[in-house]
Amino acid sequence: MEKSRVLVVGGTGYIGRRIVRASLAQGHPTLVLIRPEVGLDIDKLQMLLSFKAQGARLVEASLDDHAALVAAVAQADVVVSAMSGAHNRSHNIHLQHKLVEAIKEAGNVKRFIPSEFGVDPSRMRHALEPGRVTFDDKMEIRRAIEEANIPHTYVSANFFAAYFCPNLCQMRTLVPPKEKVHVYGDGNVKAIFVDEDDIATYTIKSVDDPRTLNKTIYIRPQENILTQNEVIAKWEKLSGKVLEKVHIPADEFLASMKGTDLANQVGVTHFYHFFYEGCLANFEIGEDGVEATLLYPEVEYTRMDEYMKIYL
Ligand code: NDP
Repeated sequence: MEKSRVLVVGGTGYIGRRIVRASLAQGHPTLVLIRPEVGLDIDKLQMLLSFKAQGARLVEASLDDHAALVAAVAQADVVVSAMSGAHNRSHNIHLQHKLVEAIKEAGNVKRFIPSEFGVDPSRMRHALEPGRVTFDDKMEIRRAIEEANIPHTYVSANFFAAYFCPNLCQMRTLVPPKEKVHVYGDGNVKAIFVDEDDIATYTIKSVDDPRTLNKTIYIRPQENILTQNEVIAKWEKLSGKVLEKVHIPADEFLASMKGTDLANQVGVTHFYHFFYEGCLANFEIGEDGVEATLLYPEVEYTRMDEYMKIYL
């Protein structure tokens, strides 16, 4: 079967660059959006040029230029959006709507993967303020996609490992703690950690797969479904050092956000759902979902002890 042409929007981002690489590695004709707003960002430009050197085609369009965006989308069979989830909310959601509008008008796209790559937002309707905006935004885009009848796949990637694993699930740091570690409750709630390159591999595997059409693909590598205690134990074994554990009850953890800035409050409510409630792993995948490692058992996914070695 001929491989579909994949257009990546947000291709120089943290997950986007991995999706570009995975698309090239899996032999898809790969297009990457280059926005004129790149301006003097030399690192971004050089990354785009390196994609070109590896065989990607750069397609120029601003997300604010509807006609150019439609023309870009018209050159692809599949569109993967890896646009940022952070930044100014109304601006971000506005840009994503523009992409959906362009896909709708172009009318040729066989699969759209919107920028989700985290918790399944449809399971977060009960999420606490102020963090729930993250999930509400993703649901708003889903509604626009479904109203426009755009064929799609939603990717529920769980944790990007680098944000949650080597730091032993601590907030405000990305490196392993040296002396003591905060443990959420008893530390026995399961979460799911995924190597970011594996997320990209599974995402691209799904784009031509009829089994993932109009479904959510959950990435749940069995050996990476771990409690916080298990992550800590893996690091202690690797580093040969035992850390002091400070357990934080749920009410104390939530109270810690009082008087802090919005970004921290968003983080605290997200972490509450992840580590006290267990929202990543506390449900069975239903009829509207499929699991990536079962669909693609040939992928050798990275285990977290291997992943953390580089931090030693
Ligand atoms: P980044 O912050 O790396 O940004 C991705 C791209 O978004 C940028 O490269 C840029 O595209 C585009 N972008 C950013 N700001 C603007 C703007 N103002 N105007 C136009 N384009 C803009 O994104 P991430 O890779 O961190 O996030 C991608 C997805 O992954 C999000 O949905 C996010 O929620 C999710 N995520 C999940 C995590 C997890 O642990 N599961 C952790 C972090 C993110 P360009 O390349 O064209 O310049």
